[in-house]
Amino acid sequence: MTSRPEQDLETNVTAVSATDMTVARKGGNTRKVFVRTYGCQMNVYDSERMTDVLAPEGFEATDDLEDADLVILNTCHIREKAAEKVYSELGRIRKVKEERAKSGKDMMVGVAGCVAQAEGEEISRRAPIVDLVVGPQSYHQLPSLLEKARAGSKVVETEFDIDAKFNHLSERAEKQVLKRPPSAFLTVQEGCDKFCTFCVVPYTRGAEVSRSVEQIVSEAERMAAAGVREITLLGQNVNAYHGTSPDGAVWGLGRLLRRLAEIDGLDRLRYTTSHPRDMDDDLIAAHRDLKSLMPYLHLPVQSGSDKILKAMNRRHTRDEYFRLIDRIREAAPDIALSGDFIVGFPGESDQDFEDTMDLIRQVGYGSAFSFKYSSRPGTPGATMDEQVPEDVKSARLAALQALVAEQQKAFNASRLGMTCDVLLEKTGRNPGQLVGKSPWLQPVQLDAPEDLIGSIQAVEIVDIGSNSLFGRLIAGQDDLGRSGRIPAPAA
Ligand code: SAM
Ligand code: SF4
Repeated sequence: MTSRPEQDLETNVTAVSATDMTVARKGGNTRKVFVRTYGCQMNVYDSERMTDVLAPEGFEATDDLEDADLVILNTCHIREKAAEKVYSELGRIRKVKEERAKSGKDMMVGVAGCVAQAEGEEISRRAPIVDLVVGPQSYHQLPSLLEKARAGSKVVETEFDIDAKFNHLSERAEKQVLKRPPSAFLTVQEGCDKFCTFCVVPYTRGAEVSRSVEQIVSEAERMAAAGVREITLLGQNVNAYHGTSPDGAVWGLGRLLRRLAEIDGLDRLRYTTSHPRDMDDDLIAAHRDLKSLMPYLHLPVQSGSDKILKAMNRRHTRDEYFRLIDRIREAAPDIALSGDFIVGFPGESDQDFEDTMDLIRQVGYGSAFSFKYSSRPGTPGATMDEQVPEDVKSARLAALQALVAEQQKAFNASRLGMTCDVLLEKTGRNPGQLVGKSPWLQPVQLDAPEDLIGSIQAVEIVDIGSNSLFGRLIAGQDDLGRSGRIPAPAA
């Protein structure tokens, strides 16, 4: 898989930083919570919300497992062996818990996320150290569920009530100072009704539900007031967004983006992950019209073969995808395209794979994620004939990734010598170095003083690496106070 900072389904493990939140202590009794996040950005967002909900209960986030009074594994179930990885991590945590017990300290253990939803009670049966199993729609109930667990019950909560989750979480967040600048995630939609034949999401996250416009705008305004300059709107199928506005009308993602673009201080907007079928005219026009909508689009196609697209139930053809890309590029010529690809779906012949390679050559991606098909119990793909042997999948994945790496290198090289806005996000590996993000989502490293973190600066791209760009600050040009993109040079 090509690794990108925003999405690393296989390996992304994030401990929510202890500095991420302001703790309102109940009775002054501070306890520590360690949250480990697996999977996509939606889980990163959920982990932050869990720490928000726990803060008024006196929990402070820690990066140190040994120091934790409460450990939560926020899990991902998108591909095989996810559950096994969780069980082996629980084995490691059991040892830490036993060590702590020797010095009279307790440790509660919770499993959250899609593995919790899929496995339910099985988790505490197989791993008795687990006190609490909580599905993705029930995080708002964490304080009361913990209370029950503390009283000695094994708690399993996997109900689907997404409205209750969002109503409650946003109300809680309002009471806290959210200080996670300068770039943040905001979930606007959850679940999926598409039922692609390889995917577990419709089963683990449930039916598609959109948050209301009012809720989203108010959360975005609070984030902007706390110093957030860039928001990435999240959803398993984010461009299927259809939220109710205050006057009762249903808004699509394009209209929502236009409203968010009006928020003062919010200079950059992004969204992920989109389905080609849901790229409507208004959303495409938003890419043409909104300066703050960054020129980057993650639009997975999965395969370039019509036969495989049909078997995957993707509901569009290869030609329709090409035509869509043309319309998007017409609206936003400098857009960086990204995608997801699955190799070795049941029935994928050499010719089908060649069709995928041909599609990649014709589209030209700035980056892409690629996966070997992983059979998921309960999905139609799992029982299809003609499963593809592992060695064939591996060879196809390697060829596809080599092609994407070439395209990524060419795309990065095309930025050389350009001046673009960079949102400076954090310190780099070397002293005096900061790391930021280009409009096209490439990491940019440059020498700059730390007090520029959180600002948007004009940066000249002076060199390129395999995954990041190297830049230099343009002297005398301070924070531009806008996210205007600098157009790419003509090809
Ligand atoms: N909604 C997005 C779409 O329609 O393309 C995708 C969201 S899915 C959570 C993220 C990616 O995981 C998919 O695009 C797909 O490439 C990959 N994925 C999902 N199920 C998979 C499976 N069973 N085997 C391999 N990759 C899978
Ligand atoms: Fe999964 Fe995306 Fe298909 Fe929904 S649209 S079933 S999330 S791959």
